[in-house]
This record gives sequence, C-alpha cells and structure tokens, in this order.
Amino acid sequence: MDQPSGSDDPSGSSHPDANTIISSPSASAQESRSLPPTPPLSRYESQKRRDWNTFLQYLKNHKPPLTLSRCSGAHVIEFLKYLDQFGKTKVHVSGCPYFGQPNPPAPCACPLKQAWGSLDALIGRLRAAYEENGGQPESNPFGARAVRIYLREVKDGQAKARGVPYEKKKRKRTGGSASGAATSGQEATTAGGGGEEGGTSGVISSNEVTNPVTSTL
Ligand SMILES: [Zn+2]
Repeated sequence: MDQPSGSDDPSGSSHPDANTIISSPSASAQESRSLPPTPPLSRYESQKRRDWNTFLQYLKNHKPPLTLSRCSGAHVIEFLKYLDQFGKTKVHVSGCPYFGQPNPPAPCACPLKQAWGSLDALIGRLRAAYEENGGQPESNPFGARAVRIYLREVKDGQAKARGVPYEKKKRKRTGGSASGAATSGQEATTAGGGGEEGGTSGVISSNEVTNPVTSTL
C-alpha cells in the first residue's frame, strides 16, 4: 500500500475533519486505478486492515515485547488507553464547569480522548481481523469480557461528562410519545454526538502505521 510514512507526527493534526480521523475514501479508488491487480477494498475493509496493522505495530513497540498470542484483554485495554492521546473528543473532568454540557459556551482545558463510538467500532474491526488472521475465537482478546466492561465504562463516563446520550439514533416519534423520554433525565438532543459514532471513522491517523507488519501467525 502507499501509506505515507511520516512516523514522527502521531497527532495526525493535518486532518481537518475531526470526525473522520483516518479515513480517506477517495484513496482506494485512485489506488485501484494505478494498481490494477489489487481489488479495491471497501471502506470498512481498508479501515480494518489499517487498524490491524496499527495494533501489530503497537505490539511490536510494546515494552516489554508482546506477541499476539500472549495478548490479553488487559493489553487491548492498554492499547485503547494509549489511543486516547490521538483523540479529538473533549471529555470534561468532573471539576470542569462544563461537565455534562453537550455544547459548552467556551473552551476549557479538559483532555481530548477517543470517543466511545470510535473505540467500540475499532474493537469490532480488530475482533474480526484477529480471527481472519488465524486467531481462535475462544482466545480473541478483543472479545474479552474485560474489554466489554471497559468500553461500557467509557461509554457511561463520556455520556455523563459530555452530556451526550450514546444511544443509537432513534426514529423521532412526532406523535404522542408520552413515556419514552420520561426515564432519561436529559432530553436527547439532535446533536447527539452522532458524527463520532460513525462505524467507519478511524481512531488514529494512517501515518501512524509506517510499515505494515506481516504477522507470523
Ligand atoms: Zn471541560
């Protein structure tokens, strides 16, 4: 592939669009023109491949060294935490005056993290990639219970901190929805953080992945 190999800029700050952190949908189309033997991958497939390479790269750089076969759910969680430094979603700390406000009126110093929806989609792709690359479903670290629990904690924490309910966009019932909204204290707004929950948006910029690693599985 023709990944740009600027390994020294992990921030990916050159990407103007905060929601699509990695993806470059037009790239594969151009590729298929110049490289006829390579069948064009779907956006999901190429994203999955990129994520997988990123994870392998992470294992490679891990200290102490870590192999895929020794990788546990705890390591996956560690990986997700590591990715937060590349995040673009403001998550307010509990002391911030904007804690729980979906649309703060002013900037604050709270950290940027990976949006829950991005992590959730990432885990789904990596889980699939693991098995496609020969891993056994029983030992799939991306399917570990600890990872699910961690994701749920991130989801709940971000929902509170950002005041953004993480629910699948529900069809708005225009007529007489009496009971629905009663239980959730916060009214679901149209903002909803929807963009960040897109299943195809990447988590890290592609220039992270310098050299695709061929696994020895
Ligand atoms: Zn804040």
